[in-house]
Amino acid sequence: NGANDFLTKPYSNEEFNCRIIHNIETFEHIQEIKNLAYTDHLTGIPNRLSFNERAQSTLAHSNEAGTPLCMAVIDLDNFKDINDNYGHDAGDAVLIEFSNILSQSFNRFILARSSGEEFYLMLNGLTLDKAHRLLENFRALVEDRIITLRDASVGITFSAGLVENNNYALEQLLKDADQQLLTAKENGRNQICCDQL
Ligand code: GH3
Ligand code: MG
Ligand code: MG
Repeated sequence: NGANDFLTKPYSNEEFNCRIIHNIETFEHIQEIKNLAYTDHLTGIPNRLSFNERAQSTLAHSNEAGTPLCMAVIDLDNFKDINDNYGHDAGDAVLIEFSNILSQSFNRFILARSSGEEFYLMLNGLTLDKAHRLLENFRALVEDRIITLRDASVGITFSAGLVENNNYALEQLLKDADQQLLTAKENGRNQICCDQL
């Protein structure tokens, strides 16, 4: 059963306890390393590696069972302006705050900071219209939120591309959602684009 240590008899209680504690510490270190590897260092939300693993298996299940699933790629609008106007630290603070709102709003789904100011959100169990409604509520929530920085207050918006799974591979879902995101940007930002509805 995976024993990785042993004691020969006779042994002292002290040595026995020592070995147990040592093994528990090793497990805790492994867990800590895993948590670090799967967490985005700035925002504390899951990273792309974590997303890929969880999304792959969730998508495989959806494809097998034929249950609905949607994928959204979310990108903050004109985020470079925040860095340019208020500094990189302010940009970081905005990313942290946005990540907090995102994970509070979608805590039962699979989300990640995929890179820079872009986020992945896999909405397992939701059809396109339901996913769209949820994202639209979230868009309005973010639009109304004032983020307080050290020397200023800012408002932010995001654009998102949303697609429904149709027995796709993850790469295809992400590519299609990215394409919709591009359309949302071209159409003026602060909106969610999807191919149907
Ligand atoms: P668009 O609406 O088209 O997405 O415009 P944008 O300005 O949001 O996009 P662009 O790709 O031009 O700029 C993204 C900026 O995000 C540039 C980059 O410096 C910044 N950025 C990426 N990662 C971080 C980060 O961890 N912290 C901070 N402060 N900025 C970051
Ligand atoms: Mg952006
Ligand atoms: Mg971007």
